[in-house]
Amino acid sequence: MLVMPEFRAWGFDVDILTGLVIWAAEAMTLAALLWSRWFYERESFYLSWGSGFALHGLGVTLLALRGYIPDFVSIEIANTIVFAGVGLWITGFLQFDGKPVGGFVAIPALIWIAGMFLDPVRENFANRVVLYNGAAMVGYAILIGILVSNRGPSHPTRRFLAILIGIQLLANGVSAVLAIVRPPTSFASAPNAALLFFPAAFCFIAFVAGAARLLTERSEEKLKALALTDPLTGVLNRRGLIEEFRALCGVQKADKPLIAMLHLDLDCFKQINDRCGHQAGDAVLVAFSKVGQTSLRGRGSFGRMGGEEFASILRVGDMVEAASIAEAIRLTLKQQTINVGDHQIKVTVSVGIALAVADDADLDLLLSAADRALYAAKESGRDRTAVDTGGEAFIVPAVDRQGEDEAPTDLRANHQVAALKRLAALGQR
Ligand code: GH3
Ligand code: MG
Ligand code: MG
Repeated sequence: MLVMPEFRAWGFDVDILTGLVIWAAEAMTLAALLWSRWFYERESFYLSWGSGFALHGLGVTLLALRGYIPDFVSIEIANTIVFAGVGLWITGFLQFDGKPVGGFVAIPALIWIAGMFLDPVRENFANRVVLYNGAAMVGYAILIGILVSNRGPSHPTRRFLAILIGIQLLANGVSAVLAIVRPPTSFASAPNAALLFFPAAFCFIAFVAGAARLLTERSEEKLKALALTDPLTGVLNRRGLIEEFRALCGVQKADKPLIAMLHLDLDCFKQINDRCGHQAGDAVLVAFSKVGQTSLRGRGSFGRMGGEEFASILRVGDMVEAASIAEAIRLTLKQQTINVGDHQIKVTVSVGIALAVADDADLDLLLSAADRALYAAKESGRDRTAVDTGGEAFIVPAVDRQGEDEAPTDLRANHQVAALKRLAALGQR
């Protein structure tokens, strides 16, 4: 029969082997749960976390078998495995955040391995305890860094998890200090082991609950994003654009007091469907979405209102800024040839722009004003940008149409000067 080492802490007789085996069994159970989620969802972080817990469980089991298996396995190998598990936890969080996994995830294991090459550390239990806690503290510090560096919608949950890991890190620190002040010679003579056990157990349970919440929040975020995304093109849908509009209105931006609504409608799109087929039409919608998003270069939002109609909402300093962005989208599309099967498709877009002071912008008014301007752009020949100037629309002079515009130059100039004045007044309200 095996004789278990025991130690006495705060009046409890704690059987170290039993404790470690329970701990290992919990880790293995979690590993199995996480692996099964990976099996169904194929998200790599589940695999990393599951494997992290499996290694943790295995390492702890080997630790528990101290005295019954060779010391080399129970000390050097067991702790290396435990820290490889920590590395996989870190890896999982990096994957969860979509960040690149760097070699730094191996730092805790490498610290431990490096220590094993130093005789005074390897041969002395107290020194090994200090090294173990030091390596664990580094691993936990890395985890805290990853958790708090992401300021996404799950920030409160991530902060909660970071605090739990912080408590664990502190407990490791206290343990290391105690091992220095009163060096133990074995597990059995390490009464402060209880110091580690209780915060570890508390943190572990709370951490699992917090991590489950993090996963739920992620699913909710995904669902929400899905509800606001157009499935064909991947850009925002009408609902998404409306939410963006609300968000953009609420932001204080002294240098960009106006909100611009660009209503973009592909020209003669029906003919593309008729000539090249509905699938080619779909490919054109996808290609145009890319043009819209890249031309915006992050200066605003771009989305599909429905059919072949798109919209862009952005904060601008003046009308010229909004018009130049619309023209950038229009000209980029015009220069492109979209290849779908045997078809080489050229397509143009007409744009209607409406502007309002962001503080009291009304979505319906902006949409109908942009629609009026779009109608004017279509009426005057398509493939152009028009700006609504409070009931009237004027066509933005374009580099690709110099000299072609229908109105006499001086008349057009007068009309545009008047329109610009009205817009300037709008910006100063
Ligand atoms: P205009 O220059 O006046 O805008 O002419 P248009 O042909 O672009 O406009 P119209 O409103 O007559 O036609 C829009 C077409 O867009 C009709 C419809 O079949 C097509 N459409 C709407 N949604 C989709 C879609 O998801 N995929 C494809 N391929 N076509 C679509
Ligand atoms: Mg159209
Ligand atoms: Mg249309």
